[in-house]
Amino acid sequence: MIISVASGKGGTGKTLVSTSLVLSLIDNHKVQLLDCDVEEPNANILLHLAINESQYVHIPIPKVDETKCTYCGKCAEVCAYNAIAVIKEKVLIFPELCHGCGACSYLCPESAITEEGREVGIVERGDSGNLELIQGKLNVGEAMAPPVIRKVKKCINPANITIIDVPPGTSCPVIESVKESDFCLLVTEPTPFGLNDLSLAVEMIRKLGIPCGVVINRVGVGNEEVEQYCHREGIPVLLRIPLDRKIALLYSKGIPLIEGMPEWRDGFLRLFQGIKDILATSRVAK
Ligand code: SF4
Ligand code: SF4
Repeated sequence: MIISVASGKGGTGKTLVSTSLVLSLIDNHKVQLLDCDVEEPNANILLHLAINESQYVHIPIPKVDETKCTYCGKCAEVCAYNAIAVIKEKVLIFPELCHGCGACSYLCPESAITEEGREVGIVERGDSGNLELIQGKLNVGEAMAPPVIRKVKKCINPANITIIDVPPGTSCPVIESVKESDFCLLVTEPTPFGLNDLSLAVEMIRKLGIPCGVVINRVGVGNEEVEQYCHREGIPVLLRIPLDRKIALLYSKGIPLIEGMPEWRDGFLRLFQGIKDILATSRVAK
């Protein structure tokens, strides 16, 4: 089962929820946590696992053999990302814009383009008992998050429960992280900003056809509009976490909620059971 944990905006408590869910489940299940928030992976600040494997992520970028090139311009025409330009008798390549799609080398009539790898990030792995962490890290200043996310997701073991910590927002890296999930948990806070970003995230998840539920964090900080929205839209609220100084303090010290306040374990187990019930009901309905 693959459960992604997403949020329309950053700072809502997504990592608090994903790590707490994972730590509640590992007594009885083999669990993978995939940290796909590759610009700022922070699940391991709470999990404290030793990293014992790492692999660099490369994307293939074009390299032109000017002895074969006729400067016909077809490569520049086909590139959807403006990553290659032909100016008089010169082919210019802009590696940071290249998505490594391979269209230019495939379509070059002179076979003048070969590909070379450009490093965009790293994937790291660590484990302890029933828990396996796989985290992606995008190189600083790099914009190409999806190849790193894809490499992280290649580590999914279907025999395990996989929890994916998704980057914030609703852009390409989010879609890359969430797609193929069985269920998406949307973490939000009960404020006008939280509601706005939650509604955008719901729209995206519905377009992907993935069932979803909501976790409301910092209950007590704002108003009732998120609850009313979920009720109107028929989205189940599976867990409510109050605005609590002790929870914030634990998080700021890198102490997992389940360790600092073990009484929360049952709440996260009920959250997991709620997801299983929704999936079972939707299978029956199909
Ligand atoms: S398509 Fe090939 S031959 Fe034409 S300009 Fe590009 S590299 Fe040169
Ligand atoms: S590999 Fe794709 S994105 Fe990169 S330069 Fe060629 S066509 Fe453009």
